[in-house]
Amino acid sequence: MIDVVIIGAGPAGTAAAFDLLSQGFSVLLLDKYGFPRKKACAGGITPKARALFKYDISSIIQRECSSIKIWPNLGRAFLIQDEKPLCYMTQRWELDLFSLEMVQKKAGQFQVVKKIVSIEEKKNHLEIRTSDQLIKSRYLIGADGANSVVRRLTHPVCRVRRYPALEADIRVDCPELFPMEFDFSMPGKGYYWVFPKKNHLNIGIYSTTGQPALKQGQLVEYAQKRFGTDRLQAIKGYSIGVGGYSYCPGQGRVLLSGDAAGFGESLLGEGIYFALKSGQAAAQAIISSCDTGIFPGIAYAKEIKKIRTDLWLYHFSAKCLYSFPRVSLKLLSHPFFHGRFAKGYADGKTMAQILFCR
Ligand SMILES: Cc1cc2nc3c(=O)[nH]c(=O)nc-3n(C[C@H](O)[C@H](O)[C@H](O)COP(=O)(O)OP(=O)(O)OC[C@H]3O[C@@H](n4cnc5c(N)ncnc54)[C@H](O)[C@@H]3O)c2cc1C
Repeated sequence: MIDVVIIGAGPAGTAAAFDLLSQGFSVLLLDKYGFPRKKACAGGITPKARALFKYDISSIIQRECSSIKIWPNLGRAFLIQDEKPLCYMTQRWELDLFSLEMVQKKAGQFQVVKKIVSIEEKKNHLEIRTSDQLIKSRYLIGADGANSVVRRLTHPVCRVRRYPALEADIRVDCPELFPMEFDFSMPGKGYYWVFPKKNHLNIGIYSTTGQPALKQGQLVEYAQKRFGTDRLQAIKGYSIGVGGYSYCPGQGRVLLSGDAAGFGESLLGEGIYFALKSGQAAAQAIISSCDTGIFPGIAYAKEIKKIRTDLWLYHFSAKCLYSFPRVSLKLLSHPFFHGRFAKGYADGKTMAQILFCR
């Protein structure tokens, strides 16, 4: 019997696997795709996210951005900057492949599965039936993203909202001359982004309503208006799971982490930090459950308390920003406010630490 099966080999799954393997647990990671695979994500890593990696990811960082250009819905653009980087640019397929290789180096097993058919909790173990095998494990971590099958099968009352985002790459001359940008001029509640990578720009749209659904045409129009091109490559959309401030782990042997638990933040849609943090928290909960005999869900609830508070603060900030964009962005354009945010972000602080000067 395997100690821990983890479904989903994104940041949440690999972070959990790495910590469990480091403590001598046997781990089987399942994913519906073989790696490398394309995952819809702009690959922006904030300093607080980078600090969570237990291995050095510098070889896959393509750029460090220490300034961000903000376009408000009305008025002139302004720059948020710090001496230290505010965001690190990676390519998501490369980050996930790199993390999976780190897990495999620690003797973590990886398998591609077509379908998770059922998950049954027995007295002392779990039975996970996939389309072609029956796997027995002591614990299960559901890290299978916003549309989680593990959540559907094991946490029927857990409600996760899904906010859509759409991204694409465009080729430009000298991408290194372009700043990182958030553009709030889009109609509706959301923004466009421009993330400069090594050989291209990654552009995208994030919406906090999902209504009406994001259309490729919107992104093409934006690329045309801003960069004079409609030649978008690798357009891909997916949802970000949000609302995890209300997630309560159950009493059983299954824990949800990352987007599967709604641990994306709703302000800007940052999810990698929370996926790593909650994946590590799930691993820690299982480790302490084995040491103390308490339910992993109880240990996990303690571990994710700060994550949930932080997510609630992002949710509140998103409500303010997208309900009153003119006032909020006017305030943010003042150096007193954006200087504080820039410093907090660059220092790797959480929202609670930035707002309450912790
Ligand atoms: C367009 C877009 C841009 C984004 N940009 C950023 C950004 O720049 N920075 C940032 O911090 N966040 C960003 N996010 C959010 C971020 O991508 C997610 O929050 C993050 O990937 C969540 O990590 P996770 O490990 O929980 O899930 P995921 O990364 O979604 O990984 C889930 C894994 O589970 C696998 N899986 C799914 N279903 C099954 C199944 N049934 N069986 C087996 N395996 C399954 C998937 O193949 C995948 O590998 C973006 C999201 C989108 C959609």
